[in-house]
Amino acid sequence: MTVQLDLENLEKLQELDLKTHDIRNEIENIPKHIEEIRQNVNTVRVILQKEENRLADAESWRSEKEHEISLQNELLAKSKSKLQGARNEKESKAATREIETIKKNIQDHEKEQLELMEAIEQYIVAMEEHKKEFSELEAELALSEKDGNERIAQIQAELIDADESRKKLTVIIDEKILRLYERIHRRLPVAIVKVKEPICPGCNVNIRPQIFNEIIRGEIVHTCQSCMRLLVYYTDETLNSEEDEKVSSTVS
Ligand SMILES: [Zn+2]
Repeated sequence: MTVQLDLENLEKLQELDLKTHDIRNEIENIPKHIEEIRQNVNTVRVILQKEENRLADAESWRSEKEHEISLQNELLAKSKSKLQGARNEKESKAATREIETIKKNIQDHEKEQLELMEAIEQYIVAMEEHKKEFSELEAELALSEKDGNERIAQIQAELIDADESRKKLTVIIDEKILRLYERIHRRLPVAIVKVKEPICPGCNVNIRPQIFNEIIRGEIVHTCQSCMRLLVYYTDETLNSEEDEKVSSTVS
């Protein structure tokens, strides 16, 4: 097997490794994404719980006010009958003062009751919004769990396929070249680069003319002196197939 063919297979291997790397990242990100939505659901749940408590408190205060107002009204009726039954001016003045105090109390309680009723209305509006948000988030969570699990199963199948394809390639590539690639790939995911001119596309360092000629001939494996990436000549074949792709994508 020629070096040229080894390098071509190595490029296929790299393509596979990069794809595998991406989908492994994706598989890691799926549970993170689901967890983020779950946390949002929980945040809104806590807000709703607080709002429910706040509403219950306001409603109990409001009914306390109501009770207080009815007590004061009873007192008012008593004081009014006291006034009617007053036997002298002193009793009459005392009853009038009582009535005034009670009326003032009733006014204060009614004012507070009104404020509570306004607050209750606002609390209900806020709760309605949060309930809507909560059910939307719950639906989003259910959907992302379903989609996420489907995607994970798909990725796992893709990984098995990629692993099989990888094994097939690794047995046909020269062992030394393969080991070299593996060593560079551990440090630099893109371990093999295509050169069109005597410059390494990985690090932009010049390639000596003699070395560049050897790369063109594709008889010896060369690595960049600076970044250590494997250098492969950018053949016309690759150029043509890419141009074909361009043409076909323009046509379609
Ligand atoms: Zn380089």
